[in-house]
Formats: sequence, C-alpha cells, structure tokens
Amino acid sequence: MIVLLKRKTTGAQLDSVRALLTEAGYRTATWQERAHTVVGAVGSLGEEQQAVLGERLGALACVERVVRTPKPYKLVSREWKAERSVVPIREGLAVGGSELVLMAGPCAVEGREQIREAAREVQRCGADVLRGGAFKPRTSPHSFQGLGREGLRYLQEASLETGLPIVTEVMDARDLDTVAEVADILQVGSRNMQNFALLKEVGKTRKPVLLKRGMSATIEEWLQASEYVMSGGNPHVILCERGIRTFETYTRNTLDLAAIPVMKRLTHLPVIADPSHGTGRWELVLPMALAAIAAGADGLIVEVHPDPARALSDGPQSLTPTRFFELVQGVRAIAEATGRRLRKPGGEREEEKWHAELSASPWRPAALVSQGS
Ligand code: PEP
Ligand code: MN
Repeated sequence: MIVLLKRKTTGAQLDSVRALLTEAGYRTATWQERAHTVVGAVGSLGEEQQAVLGERLGALACVERVVRTPKPYKLVSREWKAERSVVPIREGLAVGGSELVLMAGPCAVEGREQIREAAREVQRCGADVLRGGAFKPRTSPHSFQGLGREGLRYLQEASLETGLPIVTEVMDARDLDTVAEVADILQVGSRNMQNFALLKEVGKTRKPVLLKRGMSATIEEWLQASEYVMSGGNPHVILCERGIRTFETYTRNTLDLAAIPVMKRLTHLPVIADPSHGTGRWELVLPMALAAIAAGADGLIVEVHPDPARALSDGPQSLTPTRFFELVQGVRAIAEATGRRLRKPGGEREEEKWHAELSASPWRPAALVSQGS
C-alpha cells in the first residue's frame, strides 16, 4: 500500500498514519516525492481487510491518496504512476518519449585521441549520447581498469567538441561527485545493481541514472533496485536490459528481450537495451538491437570502437563506426514501423568504405541492404 500525504502534514499526523499501518502488521518506509511525504507499506492482509484499512487511511485529513499494491516496489510501479516517465537529459533530449535515444561509444576511454575519434564517428552516424567508461568494473584485477579521472577529462573534451552528452559508469560512492561533474547520465553497472549504498547515493543526486540489470537479477530485484534510487528522491531512472546469465555459453549473456515489454507493463520508467553486453559478439549486435526496438525499447546503448581489434576491453562485441552506421539505418526502419523516430538524421559514410565492409553481412535482411546502399 502507498499512502501519499498532503503537503502540510504534521509529524504527529504522519505518526498516526504509520501507527495504523503498523498495527495492521505492515512494515513501513517513508520518503519524499516532490513536496509530498509518502508512506510505503508492505504486509500480508487479506483483500477485504486491506480495503477497510485503505478506507480508514483515506478518510484521514492528511491523506491525499491511497494506492493499494501488493508489490515490493511502489514508486516505480505503474499503479503509482500510470503515465510513462520521460527522463530529461538536456534541452531537446529525453529518454522515454516518442524519440528513441542512441548512446554509443567505446567500452572504455583508452586515451584522448581514441575517445575523440569515437565521439566524432558516433556523432556523425546519429548517436545522441557518448558512452565510455573511465572507471571500469573488470572481472580480473590484471585487466585494464580504466583511466579514472584522466579518462573523465578526455570524455569531457570529446563531449565539448561534439556536443554529445556523456553516459559513464560510477562504481564507487566515493567517486560520485567527481563522476557527476562530467556525466550527464550516471551509469550503475550490472555488477553494482544491488550495491545499495551506491544506489542510495545516486538517489540523492538529481542526475539521470542508467541502471543496468544485474546479470543474475530477477525483474523484481531490478525493480527494487530502481526503487532505491527513486525513494532517495531521484525520479530520473532509465533501466537497461543488458543480458542475464543462463546455461547458454555461445553468447556472453542472454539478452532477455521479453524483459522489455514486461518492464513496460510493470513500471513507468523508460527501458533501453544493451545488445553489446547482451550478446558479447559484434555480429549479433545489429539483429538484437533491431529486435529490442521492435520489443518496445526506448533506446540503445552500443559499444563502438574506432578499431575494435585493438580495443583494451570488449573488442569482440564492439562495432566499427561503419557497422554502427548500418545499425542506425536499421533502427530507423524499425522505429518508423513501430511509431517511434530517431532524433537525428544521421550523417553520411563514404560509399566505398561502406560497401567494402558491409558486403560480407550474410544475415542482412534484404530490405536493409537496399536501404543502406
Ligand atoms: C559497460 O557498459 O561497459 C559495462 C561494464 O556493462 P555491464 O555493467 O552491463 O557489464
Ligand atoms: Mn563493455
């Protein structure tokens, strides 16, 4: 049950609301939603008793609205807010509206020139946001760990040059201020989806948060992680399906496409897809990107590297800029077919380079071949 209190509710009135719920065996949590205090309550009353309690609460002078939901997540639920949330990034750019948002760039910032080149390339292809990790969560401590603050500086330079906003990962609450200075979107990675201390900290900011699904997280766990951010007072959460662990080993993860329409039913938050980590193989990125958009995703985050063979991380799943250009053309076609659109027209690529690199795409649907050429 969710109880929204009126703006001028006193401490004593709040206590009486909590007392009613506690007496009925509910556990309560209290948070602020704009100027309102909200009491969320989880318990196990039967339908009828719940209805009676709801009526009693609704009759109190300080109560504006009572929403009954048995779910462990409240603020992110569609029962709480039926209309879809649109997360503003910058003037003219938002996630969750009719325009799809394309985030692209390398897995990691490897140097000044690399990120500059990547930024220019993805911008030319029609990307809306530049991605690049400065603080990298690597499975092995011996792998490249990212350039840290130096990487953030290079990202900022690339962003200033191209005008692209930045999405970059914050791994540790101690780095939050530093990362938030540069990032337009704070990425919380798969490995940190249940780092509750970090979720609470990003919940205190008002920066958009890209919350990736934990690789072994259920949909409910993922929703509850987003609830942490929202109940901290930050409503700007974007969810990202990035694949989960299954018994399948051919792909790095199994991109859970069904999670996209499921999340759209359960939450008002926008959902994007990461077909790069979702597959681990560059040749699967385009088909899964198209499928994700067809399934209702509000955008994509895609790894693009100027020279994937030399990438310091995630080269095998990184697209060349030309391949990314091809992906954007495909996404445009699916967007049009599903009542969405891309924000940008997307630039040109040299015809020759395009043909040489793309003629070897055996899986390319015929419609896209004729579109792209
Ligand atoms: C990334 O985006 O580079 C990344 C590490 O993603 P994930 O947290 O989904 O593994
Ligand atoms: Mn990566």
